[in-house]
Amino acid sequence: MASRGGALKQIIRDAALRLGFDLCAFAPVVVPPPHAAFVQQWLADGNAAGMPYIQRHIKRRLDPQRVLYHARTIISVASRYRPPPLPPIDWQAQLRGRVAAYALGADYHLTMGARLGELARTVEDIGGGRTRVYVDTGAILEREWAAAGGLGWFGKNTNILHTGEGSWFLLGEVLTTLELDPDAPWPDHCGTCTRCLDLCPTGALSPGYRLDARRCISYWTIEHRGSIPREMRPQLGNWVFGCDICQEVCPWNEKLARRESTPEADQLVPYLPDLLQLDEAGFAARYQTSALFRTRREGLARNAAVVLGNTRNPAAVAHLAQALRAEPSPVVRAHVAWALGQIGDAAARRALDLARAHAQGEVAREIDAALSGAA
Ligand code: SF4
Ligand code: SF4
Repeated sequence: MASRGGALKQIIRDAALRLGFDLCAFAPVVVPPPHAAFVQQWLADGNAAGMPYIQRHIKRRLDPQRVLYHARTIISVASRYRPPPLPPIDWQAQLRGRVAAYALGADYHLTMGARLGELARTVEDIGGGRTRVYVDTGAILEREWAAAGGLGWFGKNTNILHTGEGSWFLLGEVLTTLELDPDAPWPDHCGTCTRCLDLCPTGALSPGYRLDARRCISYWTIEHRGSIPREMRPQLGNWVFGCDICQEVCPWNEKLARRESTPEADQLVPYLPDLLQLDEAGFAARYQTSALFRTRREGLARNAAVVLGNTRNPAAVAHLAQALRAEPSPVVRAHVAWALGQIGDAAARRALDLARAHAQGEVAREIDAALSGAA
């Protein structure tokens, strides 16, 4: 199919902006994509941790034409978000966790998905061809295509960065069989900066644009199911869902104005006992349309238990003791036992002693470790 020039692109770009997207970029489909060897090596080195679906769909990831036959162009769009200022709290004293800013409000998979569908229909209406849309979860190397299309550059924190938008935006893609003129990729603007590598609290980032999910708080709090390894738990700090540190410390984000404080900002620092005591109905009612739904109730309660342990605050003991008695999930109870061990005062030990008689499996092991001070 012959290449379409600037006029058609401009119509598509205008449509994207009208739909509320803030950036729009066009990348030619190249098979394999420029960083295919890097991705394969990253996977071979085990950096994907417990996300086997990345490896499972690797052929599709490396070849968009397996996703959309005869795909020629990937249109990447970005929706900006601006974290509100954090409420002035003492998280340990007030038993508050932290949530990544992108998760505020309605789940972007839902809100962007609908708008991307509209953009895809516009592309088909005005240019013909076929389309397919993705938001985050598909077998698409979305940052690769965003960088290839000039939406921004690949930062050392592995996010796509833009001089005017930092990295506070979410990506979506429209694959199309139309051949549209590509946009030029950006040069690197990280330069000699290494702040994200230096300030990641777990050392998950290393030179060469490598993120080791096995050490990343976002992976453990969002993607991982089941128990969090003991050595990782203190490293979660106060994060119960995601982690923004490698974005917050980036100079390109620091220079952006934060948005006005809103009541919504309180959701960035949820009260941990509330999360710990949610039942399935309560979790669904609170998070059904939120990105936090991805953790499932068990994951969020597990994370809340860990962060309560990290507060080392005796005020958390009553909430943890109640969960040790009433929480249905052994995974959560095991993390609750660990948290009580972190606090380790007389009330915490009493709660552990009481629960030990009926405990089994992982919960019993965690209680024993907590009581022996080895948690
Ligand atoms: S999200 Fe947090 S833990 Fe993960 S790489 Fe960034 S700073 Fe490190
Ligand atoms: S903190 Fe520095 S090195 Fe890291 S992404 Fe931002 S500019 Fe690049």
